[in-house]
Amino acid sequence: MKRVLSVASEAVPLVKTGGLADVVGALPGALAGQDWNMRVMIPAYRGVLDRIGRDNPVWGAPDFFGGAARVFLGAVGDVEVLALDAPHLFDRAGGPYSDMWGDYGDNAERFAALSWAAAEIARDGVGGWKPDLLHAHDWQAGLAPAFLKYWGVGLPSVLTIHNMAFQGRFGPARIGAMRLPPEWFHREGYEFWGDISTLKAGIMAADAVTTVSPRYAEELMRGEFGMGLEGVMQARASVVHGILNGVDTTVWNPETDPAITPYSAGKLAPRLKNRKALLAEFGLDPKLPGPLAILVSRLTPQKGIDMIPEAIGDFVAGGGGLAVLGTGDAWAEGMMHEVAARYPGRVGLRIGYDEGLSHRMFAGADVVLVPSRFEPCGLTQLYGLRYGCVPVVAGVGGLADTVIGATPATEAAGAATGVVFHPVDGLALRQALRRTLALYADKAGWTAMVKRGMKADWGWGRSAARYAALYEQLVAR
Ligand code: ADP
Repeated sequence: MKRVLSVASEAVPLVKTGGLADVVGALPGALAGQDWNMRVMIPAYRGVLDRIGRDNPVWGAPDFFGGAARVFLGAVGDVEVLALDAPHLFDRAGGPYSDMWGDYGDNAERFAALSWAAAEIARDGVGGWKPDLLHAHDWQAGLAPAFLKYWGVGLPSVLTIHNMAFQGRFGPARIGAMRLPPEWFHREGYEFWGDISTLKAGIMAADAVTTVSPRYAEELMRGEFGMGLEGVMQARASVVHGILNGVDTTVWNPETDPAITPYSAGKLAPRLKNRKALLAEFGLDPKLPGPLAILVSRLTPQKGIDMIPEAIGDFVAGGGGLAVLGTGDAWAEGMMHEVAARYPGRVGLRIGYDEGLSHRMFAGADVVLVPSRFEPCGLTQLYGLRYGCVPVVAGVGGLADTVIGATPATEAAGAATGVVFHPVDGLALRQALRRTLALYADKAGWTAMVKRGMKADWGWGRSAARYAALYEQLVAR
């Protein structure tokens, strides 16, 4: 079995703020079937060592970015974890990147340290385990492939971009503190418009760059989505690959989900129980005549939720309802409160993060809204497909790659699995919701669409095979 070291700032079930954690946590299991042994390296944030144990220290450095550091090998479930314990950097009361006062002031050093330790372990191995390849995720680990390159280590590396919006940009005064070699502060290295960018460093240094959908891979080469790094992506185009994320089908399975009344594509009737319970849970009209839509999302500009107030009126007037679960920016939470207050009994809101509730929502609602302005892959539309909750999505990134929008042609061909709108603006969303009302009114057509979505396979199998093929190609070079 070949070996790969995966390095990231979050991994399910230890720490999660978004889809990145789902992917990092799921890949080891998915790759095991492809004959690749993956270990996951993350920071030992507060509480992590309580979960994975302190019995097996495998690496240490007495003076590491301002304090002592060790790496412990442990496991959660079947996932082997290497946790970087550096209390001066990671043992904090807040979240992985910030606390109630904002981003930590030393994120540059914190994630340079993670990347440095990962690069050392990739180069030297630990306890007889030596990887054949390094796989780094996002800006937090972007320097890991870069350090390998700067040190002249020939080990192959992959960088996956889960979200181009976060680029690890810091002022050049941090070069020393991040242990970056000054001679690489130029456009072929980690320099970006006079700053450091750890994401750019990784994109330039890795042997292959992947992103989480084919469409997003193309979008990143354009100014509209590249967020300033489009030129860098174009320069690396020959090594860029789009590989869709999968869904953990043991956690997301309507036939066995303990949070709901189970059902399947062949036996949809119990779904109505979930719908009824969901309407009650959100205090919505128990006799809601039209489709019940949900939004399960971070409440931030990326997710396009600012379009909801202008788009939802017609939908509600046409008999629809909306249940929202999310947390995020204060303005967005306030805006959602206002929308809920405007349509009592029709729009319900829960501010917070709640996995169990999210399961009940996918199992009971008719429609999941994903109006993102950009979406690298997106998971909620996939949960929706699997749970018979029809996705209504913006035609960008992974949303465009995974949902087949209802058009006269796709309907005639019996292929549609949702509604896709473009351009991404309030008017287009409003029209998409009107179209949804019309589709829902045709019960037979709607049920056929629901079943089609449920039957598609969004498990990790296909994606894992693609990662494995990429790894093989790089290792063989
Ligand atoms: P992103 O990573 O940009 O937030 P994704 O769609 O890739 O978007 O992944 C988001 C993940 O977080 C999904 O698993 C989604 O169900 C979950 N999620 C987001 N907000 C909430 C919430 N408030 N409660 C429960 N789960 C949530």
